[in-house]
Order: sequence, then structure tokens, then C-alpha cells
Amino acid sequence: MIDGLVRDTRFTTFDGTLSLATKHQRPDRFSHLESPDSTLHRIPRGGGYSYSASSFGENSLVQEMTCFNRFIDFNSETLTLKLEAGVRLIDLMKWALPRQLHFPVLPGYPLITVGGCVAADVHGKNPYKDGTFSDWVKQLTVFHPQKGYQSCSPEENSTLFAMTCGGYGLTGVITDVTLQLATLPTPWIALSQHRVGSLEEAVRELSSCDADIAYSWHDAAAGSNFGRGIVYVGQWTKNGALPKPMKYHPMTANTRARLPISAWNGLTARVANSAVLLQARYKSKISVKGVMAASFPFATNVYFHKLFGRPGLRETQFLVSEDKMGECSHALQKLVCDTGAPTMMLSLKRFKGVQKSLSMSGTGYLVAIDSYRNARTDLFMHRLDQLILDVGGQPNLSKDSRMPGEVAELSIASFAQFKQGLFAYDAARTMRSELSRRIGLS
Ligand SMILES: Cc1cc2nc3c(=O)[nH]c(=O)nc-3n(C[C@H](O)[C@H](O)[C@H](O)COP(=O)(O)OP(=O)(O)OC[C@H]3O[C@@H](n4cnc5c(N)ncnc54)[C@H](O)[C@@H]3O)c2cc1C
Repeated sequence: MIDGLVRDTRFTTFDGTLSLATKHQRPDRFSHLESPDSTLHRIPRGGGYSYSASSFGENSLVQEMTCFNRFIDFNSETLTLKLEAGVRLIDLMKWALPRQLHFPVLPGYPLITVGGCVAADVHGKNPYKDGTFSDWVKQLTVFHPQKGYQSCSPEENSTLFAMTCGGYGLTGVITDVTLQLATLPTPWIALSQHRVGSLEEAVRELSSCDADIAYSWHDAAAGSNFGRGIVYVGQWTKNGALPKPMKYHPMTANTRARLPISAWNGLTARVANSAVLLQARYKSKISVKGVMAASFPFATNVYFHKLFGRPGLRETQFLVSEDKMGECSHALQKLVCDTGAPTMMLSLKRFKGVQKSLSMSGTGYLVAIDSYRNARTDLFMHRLDQLILDVGGQPNLSKDSRMPGEVAELSIASFAQFKQGLFAYDAARTMRSELSRRIGLS
């Protein structure tokens, strides 16, 4: 008998392109986490904000960890905080800010959980300066139904630690994580924006930028405006009183998709992108934002995602080495403009680090592309896969819900090592998701 209220639930990827019903449990105590038959296939889930089906799959019990949300221990000398894996980033920041503390690697949405951030080894606003999430993890505990609770860190049980950070839940359920926090310089960030004419110009700006936050946004609609964009640069600044609490309406994969049709198409994409570029010309070049608003831009700005409606969107992110970035920009512009691709916007971030596990990490530039869905989308994505392979790019598995297994295998440097380690660790491959099946890890 399975306890912990197991029911059938339909899950949908955040991009809205894949949906299926499976068994679902939301354990609120360790005995529930442990109780299902230990041979049952399962997969952990956090907030459900992955664009790919990495936290659900056919015939896998989904163990949603959002009730494991307690703060366990804080060491004020080392600034290390131990918390349960289901703690949401907004709650981490609400705890940290009044104590003049900060967590530097924050992805763009506040309801993402710490466990989901470790498992996808996510990045924040400046991965060149701050690395990826796992660079700030000191220790964690993983529960595997046949192996029990295993503590691991870069020093202890280091192979399991390395496979769990960026391992998409395939080594087991992370129950707690010890994070390294940083001192908060001030709770305010001055965000400046200025226009650039091309991807190459943005790369030049980002490569010489030493700011705390640095990324760019670009018009990616096919046409003469392709590549025009805005470089955003943020620095800590003093601004008197504490920022007001951030107000927002939570968005989930289901509420994102309420609109029955997509409002984005070639025309609306061009109009919206021109409006963004125009406001950058006239609006004040510097805006001062609270650290929460600067860290979680998609909390208050939900229209971009919601207007893709029920048909959903396609996103691809990949990391390209600095020396291949020129070739990549050129090939991308040619691909989009020659084929009239359904692309809408593009974003760049600079990275520094070493590639590990399945995580999108290493040194180079992240290229993120969002497309609306029409008859040309799948062909475009297929051609983009080839472009990624041609420029030696490394894809982000949490952002692309259809990336074929052979592309992942050829493009992620540690893929073979990860696969070998995973099958040696758990030959029965107990933890399974649609992602793990698609890329040959089940
Ligand atoms: C609006 C928006 C903005 C985003 N911005 C960024 C960004 O700036 N940078 C970035 O890198 N990503 C970004 N993301 C993607 C997001 O950070 C990742 O998909 C993240 O993994 C989602 O975490 P989650 O808690 O929602 O986990 P889920 O989506 O539920 O799960 C993601 C993966 O984590 C695993 N997992 C979850 N909890 C656990 C656990 N306790 N133990 C073991 N494995 C677990 C799951 O099995 C799955 O493989 C964004 C997503 C959205 C929707």
C-alpha cells in the first residue's frame, strides 16, 4: 500500500508542449517519501517550472517535494544555511534579506525550488561572475529507495555529489541542501540599459563588463531588425529605505496556458520587439530596483509567457565557446532570416566554469531563443540542433522539451561519463522521467 495521498495528476511542461497523467504524491514526512514499493519507478519534482518533462514521466510516481520546506540550520560564521529541498527561492530570499544576506545564483522565477535548482544546476544573472547553482552547494542529502539517505559534498561521496548537481533527479530525491550565502551589499540594484545594433556588439559589451548583473535581450524575429537589442547591466546601489515586498500573481504551467490561442506570430512579434527597442530609446537609462524585482523579472512581467497561450512555445538555450560565438551569430542570423523562422526573442549571458554532469556549465556565451509554434517551428528546431552541433554548443536540457537524445549525447561533454556512472550507481534505473527516457538514461 502506498501512502502519502497518491493520486492521478496530469502534468504539463512549462512550455505547454507536452502533457501526461501519472501517479503523484506530495510527501510531507520522511515515511511517505520512503513508503512506496522501493522498486517503483519515480522522479522528484519541485515547483514544476522546467520547460522539459524532467519532473514527470509515464509510469513514474512523481514525488513533489514542496512540503519539504523547512529551514534547518544556519552557521553565522561560515554563512552556510541548511534547508529542505522544497524551499522556494522567494522564501530563501525573504529569510536572507533582513539578515543582510544574499544568494547570488537566482533563476528568473521566485517559485522555483532549491532542489530543482540543484538538479538542473541553474544559472542566475551573471554566470561569468557567480558560476552556476552547484558552485554554491556545500553539502546535500539524497534519498534513493534502495540505498537510503546518502550525504554527499565535494569532499565526501564526491561522485554522487557531482552526478546529483545537474543530474535532473536521476540519482534520487534531494531532501536537504547546505548553501553558501554571501553578504548583501545593499538591497538595491541600479539597472542600466542601452541599445546595441547586433549580437556581435552585445558580445563585445558583455566581454568587457565587470558588473554584478549582465545580460542582453535581442529582437530575433526574421527580418532586418534581427539582432538589435539592449544590454542590461546592474550594480549594487544605495537607495535609503528597504524595497517594498514584491507583489505578483503566481504563474504555473497551467495558468500560463489559459489563453486558447497564441497571440504571438510574425507580425505581433515584430511590433512588440520594436516597442521594447523604442522604449529603451526614451525611457530613463537607469532604473533602481529592489533585489527581488531585479532577480525575478518574470514574476511581475507575465505577459510574454502567457501570450503564447495553450499552443505554448519552444525555447532553446545553448552555451557556445567565446571563439565560436562570431560564427554562431552569423549562422543563426542566416538560419532565421533565410527560413523565416518563428523566432521571437533572443538573450545572451556570459559564462565561466567547467562543464559537469548534464548541467549547462562551462565557459562561453549562453544563447537563449524563444519561438512561437507554427508549421515551421519543428523544422527550425531541427536545423537549430544541427547548428548547435556545428558550433560545438552545449544545450540546456531543462529548457528544450524535444531535444533528441542523440543531439544531447553528442553535444554534452560529460554525457558518456554521466551515463556510465548512473548505470553503475543504479543498474535498475529506478528514477525515470520523460527526459531520461528521451535521452537514453532510463
Ligand atoms: C519564468 C522562468 C524563468 C526561468 N529562469 C531561469 C534562469 O534564469 N536560469 C535558469 O537556469 N533556469 C531558469 N528557469 C528554469 C528553472 O530554473 C529550472 O527548470 C528549474 O529546474 C526549475 O525548478 P523547479 O523547482 O520548478 O523543479 P521542477 O521543474 O519540478 O524539476 C526540475 C528538475 O529538478 C528535479 N528535482 C526537483 N526537485 C528535486 C529534488 N528535491 N531532488 C532531486 N531532484 C529534484 C526534477 O526531477 C527535474 O529533473 C526558468 C523557468 C521559468 C519558468
